[in-house]
Amino acid sequence: MNIHEYQAKELLAKFGVPVPAGVAAMSVEEAVAATKQLPGPLYVVKAQIHAGGRGKGKFKELPPEAKGGVRLAKTEEEVRTAASEMLGNTLVTIQTGPAGKQVNRLYVTDGVDIAKEFYLALLVDRASGRVAFVVSTEGGMDIETVAHDTPEKIHTFAVDPATGFMPHHGRAVANALGLKGDLAKQAESLAAKVYDAFLGTDASQIEINPLAVTDDGKLLVLDAKVGFDSNAMFRHKDLMELRDETEEDPMELEASKYDLAYIKLDGDIGCMVNGAGLAMATMDIIKLNGMFPANFLDVGGGASKEKVTAAFKIILSDPAVKGILVNIFGGIMRCDIIAEGIVAAAKEVNLSVPLVVRLEGTNVQQGKDILANSGLAIVPANDLGDAAKKIVAEVQKAA
Ligand code: ADP
Ligand code: MG
Repeated sequence: MNIHEYQAKELLAKFGVPVPAGVAAMSVEEAVAATKQLPGPLYVVKAQIHAGGRGKGKFKELPPEAKGGVRLAKTEEEVRTAASEMLGNTLVTIQTGPAGKQVNRLYVTDGVDIAKEFYLALLVDRASGRVAFVVSTEGGMDIETVAHDTPEKIHTFAVDPATGFMPHHGRAVANALGLKGDLAKQAESLAAKVYDAFLGTDASQIEINPLAVTDDGKLLVLDAKVGFDSNAMFRHKDLMELRDETEEDPMELEASKYDLAYIKLDGDIGCMVNGAGLAMATMDIIKLNGMFPANFLDVGGGASKEKVTAAFKIILSDPAVKGILVNIFGGIMRCDIIAEGIVAAAKEVNLSVPLVVRLEGTNVQQGKDILANSGLAIVPANDLGDAAKKIVAEVQKAA
């Protein structure tokens, strides 16, 4: 689960991390009024969407020379203009994809004079299996470019969970940023607080870019992106309230209501599989046969008929889907239950694309009989390879 920049900053501030003053605004009037609560004389009006690259982004509705989603303003009138050009319009950045995202919220924040921009992130480092700091003196720009062109400018320090954050981690961060004296002290303290915030909220990522040094020698978080481990959100009811469902993919949102692990992808073959590993293998084998999966979907071990029906509807609501491959191993879940779910769902949605089903496991014969006697054009498959070949052939035949 991700949250907006203004929410991330409010959260970090609770842990003592230094952030500039700012006020969230849902309307032009609120944005203008926000200036009264800020010191001035410089304000920054920032589009709040769950994607980075806003500064260099472009609004679909505005001429190409218009400014992006992060704008400096010196007067209330400039705040008004910026807010009215952004709210309700669609911002396209390198992270949103070509469709862009509609801006429904703004953040009006104190404009600071920047001497230097750094990068600092905390994430779960898969290489070490630990929470790790990733820091670079090359902040402000997109870190992927830095990683690609000058990987030696990115420093990673993992934190041993047995000791937790130690003063030497703070010194390593300050050192990697080339800071001395008071700024080094600020960096050490900031690193400790960001680490507290990471553990305290069950975050999966805290990315600060830029972490700025101001002209008057202060370290300040100017942009923050925070994501949480969804599996831990049951113990953070307060954080759940920060969820903005309008930012989520509508199909993924629907799937989450049924506790289905669904991720939208770009291909043509819808997949319904139980078990994440089998789902990955199914996607691989579709690719091996020359087509691409339209989604990842793990219906889980103990899926009910309702869950299968919901999964089916979600797959079919994707207009890109040209065929569906169901690959279920009935270990905990019985094949006859799956078959009933498939038949019920296919009838309910008036299935119009080819459907290949591979069932294996408990009550497999009963399951196959249900499919065969359903009166629907369901193509049975014997194994995974057979199933992938058949769905690709069926889709190509239908085209
Ligand atoms: P994004 O990463 O989505 O483009 P940022 O918040 O990082 O958005 O803003 C882009 C750039 O705008 C920053 O690198 C910084 O140079 C400038 N900026 C952002 N916030 C402020 C601020 N409060 N004061 C001055 N400049 C800012
Ligand atoms: Mg940024």
